[in-house]
Amino acid sequence: MDINIEKAVKEIESKGFLDLDLDPSMNLFEAIEDLKKEKNAVLLAHYYQEPDIQDVADFIGDSLGLAQQAAKTNADVIVFAGVHFMAETAKILNPSKKVLLPDLKAGCSLADSAPAGLFKAYKYRYPDHLVVSYINCSAEIKALSDIICTSSNAVSIIDSIPKDQAIIFAPDKNLGAFLNKQTGRNMRLWDGACMVHEIFSLEKITKLKIRNPKAKLIAHPECEDVILKIADFVGSTTQLLKFAVTDNCNEFIVATETGILHQMQKDAPFKTFIPAPPNNSCACNDCPHMKLNTLEKLYLCMKYELPEINMVEDLRLAALKPMNRMMDISRAAGLIG
Ligand code: SF4
Repeated sequence: MDINIEKAVKEIESKGFLDLDLDPSMNLFEAIEDLKKEKNAVLLAHYYQEPDIQDVADFIGDSLGLAQQAAKTNADVIVFAGVHFMAETAKILNPSKKVLLPDLKAGCSLADSAPAGLFKAYKYRYPDHLVVSYINCSAEIKALSDIICTSSNAVSIIDSIPKDQAIIFAPDKNLGAFLNKQTGRNMRLWDGACMVHEIFSLEKITKLKIRNPKAKLIAHPECEDVILKIADFVGSTTQLLKFAVTDNCNEFIVATETGILHQMQKDAPFKTFIPAPPNNSCACNDCPHMKLNTLEKLYLCMKYELPEINMVEDLRLAALKPMNRMMDISRAAGLIG
């Protein structure tokens, strides 16, 4: 093995990715397409990835859509352009396939807000509670859960549980509070949140609405209640995209990660999409974890098939059980085919 590659492989654990120089004149789009064919690889990208990665992906989607694609792919290699828990989810569903993530350090503040040890102790205090966890959590939290949900299917999942059954909802307290309102439940909420969706500024959004009186505010349910209360529409990333494209309004203030604006603009080129401003000096709200993936890291990860996601089989099987329950309930509710 070339000495530089050997060094880069050794450094994956500390750096999270293969740190190798590339010829700047290289056409990475073509090179990635060639690698897909050569390795029978499928490239799944989350809506929050940078536009270049979305444009070279085979499938773009939110957590539920990508989990479905991962479950039914015939490819030998799944390249996941997203964050760590998403690639882990693909591995849980596809143990025999190689799952690659361009940067292992692409984590998630929401998933990190539920450490497995603390959550296990919390669950132990409420033995009669069923645990419903949002898919944005680690494999260890999935393994401690009874059913997984996404923001697209959460209401159907919760409605499928008998009304008198007590529930713990983890890890997102904002999504949990929104679901309590939607379903009329009083679920016990784990105190976790997403750093991207929690930072929107009510004051700046209100001013933006005054300056753009025709614009509708659309928001992801991971946002705080104060933002959801003034939103014209609340939905998962896919639901926000669909609403923005099909609604007769032509201007939208979008309160979620800004990566989705790329697909909105592609699907509705004559409409205006304004990113909702956060409570800091920036004008838009990028997820720093999602944006760790780059086209260069993606190419290198596909070429050398590293970094790879691996998982102990006992953990995988325990995490698979609540994922399968989610898929069964979603199928029964007609949410997936
Ligand atoms: S946007 Fe929030 S929930 Fe999504 S990956 Fe980033 S930190 Fe996690």
